[in-house]
Amino acid sequence: MKIIVTGGAGFIGGNFVHLMVNKYPEDHIICLDALTYAGNLATLKSVMDKPNFSFVKGDIANREFIYDLFEKIKPDIVINFAAESHVDRSILDPEVFLRTNVIGTSVLMDACRKYGITRYHQVSTDEVYGDLPLDKPDLFFTEATPLHTSSPYSASKASADLLVLAYHRTYGLPVSISRCSNNYGPYHFPEKLIPLMIINALHNKSLPVYGDGLNVRDWLYVTDHCEAIDLIVRQGKVGEVYNVGGHNEVNNLTIVKTICSILGKSENLIEYVTDRQGHDRRYAIDPAKIHSDLGWLPKVKFEDGIVKTIEWYKQNKDWWEPIISGEYQKYYESMYQGK
Ligand code: NAD
Repeated sequence: MKIIVTGGAGFIGGNFVHLMVNKYPEDHIICLDALTYAGNLATLKSVMDKPNFSFVKGDIANREFIYDLFEKIKPDIVINFAAESHVDRSILDPEVFLRTNVIGTSVLMDACRKYGITRYHQVSTDEVYGDLPLDKPDLFFTEATPLHTSSPYSASKASADLLVLAYHRTYGLPVSISRCSNNYGPYHFPEKLIPLMIINALHNKSLPVYGDGLNVRDWLYVTDHCEAIDLIVRQGKVGEVYNVGGHNEVNNLTIVKTICSILGKSENLIEYVTDRQGHDRRYAIDPAKIHSDLGWLPKVKFEDGIVKTIEWYKQNKDWWEPIISGEYQKYYESMYQGK
């Protein structure tokens, strides 16, 4: 089979490409990525020379380019990870989120309709459900929870999800959607909470925590998410949405304190900064459907995954040092140092 993985030079897409190339030597994996600030070819270094892997640079929202590519490749499966993915950046400038996340999704699906595929899979997020109150720990997002977004990022992802379901109903496109909780693990871009805190702590720099730090996220190790997507694409039902999560709710402050403790750093590095606008309070996924229908369960416990992740950042400075010394530094200073 020929499988196009968009956004494969990013965090989750990159981990997914590694899984697919190694697990399915008989399939051909084509990574399509625009290499925005978040895309990094170094993430794909270990698969670049594999005979069942190709990389194509390109923009999913460029219709002419996408149609040409599909004409040439005639893919069997398309898995769409490509997105603008950072909530803070969507608050600064929503437009590129609409272009990539909404228009890009529709262009890809139009190409799927034109050239025919057996599955289009959309990688989505639990953020499409909005947030839950902290004082109702029994409430979880199910696939039936209404979409109720808070940020331009989540609104763009929810719009894309609605388009995906509409293409299934209107055109009969064989689609599926996964909505996953927060991921962590290797190759995570340094602007996101866990890598940001690890890298700052390694440099004895302050650890900026939004608001009171009590916002809760449901954390899942990235390879568990990748395995869930592989399963949904191969065994999940067409037209269905599957929530993916590990029932591992932790607040941001606890995450930061855990990182300090593992690295032997003082909690005095923690600095409370002005809260994110519209900051979601709690996300919590109910993954009962993917468990009962497909038998998926997460394999990596948080206490092991966080240690593995910290170790990876310690051992792979050559991956993240070039990122934090470039354009990213200006973004970081404007976000956290009032410049
Ligand atoms: P990321 O920002 O690390 O990677 C996104 C990738 O998409 C980058 O390689 C980038 O170059 C590429 N890209 C961006 N615009 C593009 C375009 N127009 N055309 C082609 N490529 C483009 O993101 P991530 O954290 O790996 O997230 C991947 C997907 O998973 C996203 O759709 C995101 O919404 C979803 N998701 C992420 C999380 C999480 O915790 N990170 C959780 C649930 C769902």
